[in-house]
Amino acid sequence: MPIDFIYPDYEVVRNYDRCVGCRVCERQCANEAHYFDEAAGKMMADESKCVNCHRCVSLCPTRALKIVKTDHTFKENYNWTGEAIQEIYRQAGSGGVLLSSMGNPKNFPVYWDKILINASQVTNPSIDPLREPMETRVYLGKKPSCVERDEKGNLIPNLQPQLKLEVPVLFSAMSYGSLSYNAHESLARAAAQLGILYNTGEGGLHEDFYRYGKNTIVQVASGRFGVHKDYLSAGAAIEIKMGQGAKPGIGGHLPGQKIVGDVSKTRMVTEGTDAISPAPHHDIYSIEDLRQLVYSLKEATNYEKPVIVKIAAVHNVAAIASGIARSGADIIAIDGFRGGTGAAPTRIRDNVGIPIELALASVDQRLRDEGIRGSVSIIAGGSIRSSADVVKAVALGADAVYIATSALLALGCHLCRTCQTGKCNWGIATQRPDLVKRLNPDIGCQRLVNLVTAWQHEIKEMMGGMGINSIEALKGNRLMLRGVGLNDRELSILGIKHAGE
Ligand code: SF4
Ligand code: SF4
Repeated sequence: MPIDFIYPDYEVVRNYDRCVGCRVCERQCANEAHYFDEAAGKMMADESKCVNCHRCVSLCPTRALKIVKTDHTFKENYNWTGEAIQEIYRQAGSGGVLLSSMGNPKNFPVYWDKILINASQVTNPSIDPLREPMETRVYLGKKPSCVERDEKGNLIPNLQPQLKLEVPVLFSAMSYGSLSYNAHESLARAAAQLGILYNTGEGGLHEDFYRYGKNTIVQVASGRFGVHKDYLSAGAAIEIKMGQGAKPGIGGHLPGQKIVGDVSKTRMVTEGTDAISPAPHHDIYSIEDLRQLVYSLKEATNYEKPVIVKIAAVHNVAAIASGIARSGADIIAIDGFRGGTGAAPTRIRDNVGIPIELALASVDQRLRDEGIRGSVSIIAGGSIRSSADVVKAVALGADAVYIATSALLALGCHLCRTCQTGKCNWGIATQRPDLVKRLNPDIGCQRLVNLVTAWQHEIKEMMGGMGINSIEALKGNRLMLRGVGLNDRELSILGIKHAGE
């Protein structure tokens, strides 16, 4: 037995009274956890390969399977948890950086769950969203600071390009390559049906999806993969990715085995070659450099498209956002430390960055204090899990939110957190043709539309309860929020009172 044997995290429990030996679980598991044991004449499992994705559990025709967390334990304590011990064993064995996917799972405070929403009672009556109009449409982009008129008193149009969203929700950047073709098609079609936008991420835009351009944000990241004139012109907006919440301060890496076929063509990267995005943009070392890129992109697209600058939420995020607002960007996207990813070094994911709630509140306040809040819109992202999180984010100052993990869950993701292996059993984070076809874009699109439509109904109900009939009236309206169990410093940064005050 090797010294670093690690007992599997999960155990496959098979009810042999129910199992009919159909071998569906074996065929469905890309990790090859199930197999038929000829000698024993029954199905068995290699639990070391199980990632707890629930594919077999969901498709077993006789409900014969369940996956349970093992109760095997180390002699752990609060300092040396079983996880910490296992990670030491893994690194001592491999000498490598630990990799993970999806967002930070650690037990840091989730401020959304410590903030409560107001409701009208006797005065300022609530509004019934079934009987009265309720506006969830928002426009993202610079707003003019004044109305301009010519000598004859006619209005001089001075509105910069805007993005129109029917609901203040966008699908966040997830590249073709990290996601499958069918996942991208589901997102693009759902965005078009919902009147919102999805984001290409840094993987370029597949030629089949140019037709969804009105609902597409095209991203320019440090690797500049797939960036060319037609690509920039294809989208409704361009996003410069400076940082990402799951891995602030470092670049990206799509392994060569995922750079196949159309992914290679779309990224403009040779098949089988690793696509490595550098940590910095090699032409940006100051706000002035950023300004040059912002205006180069505007120039390249006839000043017709808003430019978004996306940053990770980090310690001095408010000062950075202030600089970005002055760089000419139209929209700032802030990604909190719980934001998802297809692959990130575990240590970075779990220890770098700050919560989106605190970052958003401090950025909104700083821009207001400096009198430049109207010169940019703010998109907040990094683990928006429900319509209540959307309402709280808007009340803290966001114009709209990015969702990614929630959207993947709607597509069937079971948060097994092994996207980096490329063996997603739900056809989402994979390029294997046999797995990709498991995700039906018709169904994927419909489920995304259902999710956002359900959220829209709930947002209207919550706004109505507050006596507010538009997102615009809710934006930055922190009087509608109260904190529970937060200390004075946290309340001060969030700019809200404690419950009972
Ligand atoms: S899918 Fe269910 S019934 Fe079929 S072999 Fe596996 S456990 Fe048995
Ligand atoms: S996208 Fe697929 S691999 Fe990634 S967490 Fe979800 S189910 Fe697992």
